Amino acid sequence: MGPPGSGKGTQARLLCDGLGWYHLATGELFREHLRRDTPLGRLAEQHMSRGEYVPDDVTVGMVRETLAGIAPERRIVFDGFPRTVDQARALDGLLRDRGRRVGHVVLIDVPREELLKRLAARTRTDDTPQVVSRRLEVYETQTRPVIEHYERAASVQKVNGIGAVPEIGQRLREAVGG
Ligand code: AMP
Repeated sequence: MGPPGSGKGTQARLLCDGLGWYHLATGELFREHLRRDTPLGRLAEQHMSRGEYVPDDVTVGMVRETLAGIAPERRIVFDGFPRTVDQARALDGLLRDRGRRVGHVVLIDVPREELLKRLAARTRTDDTPQVVSRRLEVYETQTRPVIEHYERAASVQKVNGIGAVPEIGQRLREAVGG
């Protein structure tokens, strides 16, 4: 987990490439739908372009479908999911059905000023200044409580997200025992 601009996408990809784990990134899946111009992609775009979250039922449905295509014993890094407490509850259920559970929750920690600097330098279409500030606000109100949800069941490990990409990658591997 981590706020927009924390580098969670880069780090999740790096971790999965290094360890052969499955990278399940909901933002990437939505962007892929958008590129293919599917109905789900068009629906997601209406929310993404405003810095809002895609509705939970749509997001959870897409994750359920993706999970169905992954070998049951494969380790998975969820990147950008769950982002709401309802998504976290749904994920707990989906994993339980597969005889699995969340093993580690890692929060990539980056101060707000640094996030704003990084996001201003990105060129994604959902990264205009207004959308960026809305995305940070939505993260605070909707995703912060997810951290508390996991803190009740397991420990949430904080990883310092400042530094060089490989250095942060090493901290992350240590956190997940990879
Ligand atoms: P990301 O690439 O993870 O930063 O996601 C980009 C955008 O996709 C987000 O700002 C949301 O609009 C949407 N999105 C990605 N993951 C989720 C999710 N778990 N729940 C709802 N919306 C999501």
